[in-house]
Amino acid sequence: MERIVQEMPEDFRRCVEFHGHVCPGLAIGYRASKAGLEELHQRRASDEELVAIVENDACGVDAVQVLTGCTFGKGNLIHKDYGKQVFIFIDRESGRGVRVALRAGVIDPPKGETQHPMNREEKTRKILSLPQNELFSVREVSIPVPPKATIEPSVACDRCGEPTMRSKLEEVEGERLCRECLKSEGLGS
Ligand SMILES: [Zn+2]
Ligand SMILES: [Zn+2]
Repeated sequence: MERIVQEMPEDFRRCVEFHGHVCPGLAIGYRASKAGLEELHQRRASDEELVAIVENDACGVDAVQVLTGCTFGKGNLIHKDYGKQVFIFIDRESGRGVRVALRAGVIDPPKGETQHPMNREEKTRKILSLPQNELFSVREVSIPVPPKATIEPSVACDRCGEPTMRSKLEEVEGERLCRECLKSEGLGS
């Protein structure tokens, strides 16, 4: 696997450094980010802020963070727990962007088909070398982007006393409790 790293472009090596290892998932996120950024650059002003919506929280998301600069801390990386290799890149201002989805059967053979199973290195190489349109289906999307998180004052939870964003506290029998305390009471979700 380490051989792959030496052969690969500098930006893929940066993803590997951040993620900690080479794997097929990282390669998918790398290719998806490159595809998305390329599509967007053809028609967006470079100073517009990017938002990434990722439909999984696996290895590939690390490549998205490195290549797009979208992170949880900045509020421009949004996770949807759908378990799909789908990556959406949008301009915050306009809500217009591209949806990049891994095609079925690219990595694992379609159901019922017998094919010699690829090992992780073979999968990674395949993902890094396939033409983009064989790897992904890419289409334009227009999605309303959630507003940036606003800064709000913290209030101490009545149970644990820890400062908590006011809007995240819930009132139960006259007490304002954080979600962590609600959960340990068996009340929260
Ligand atoms: Zn990985
Ligand atoms: Zn609490």
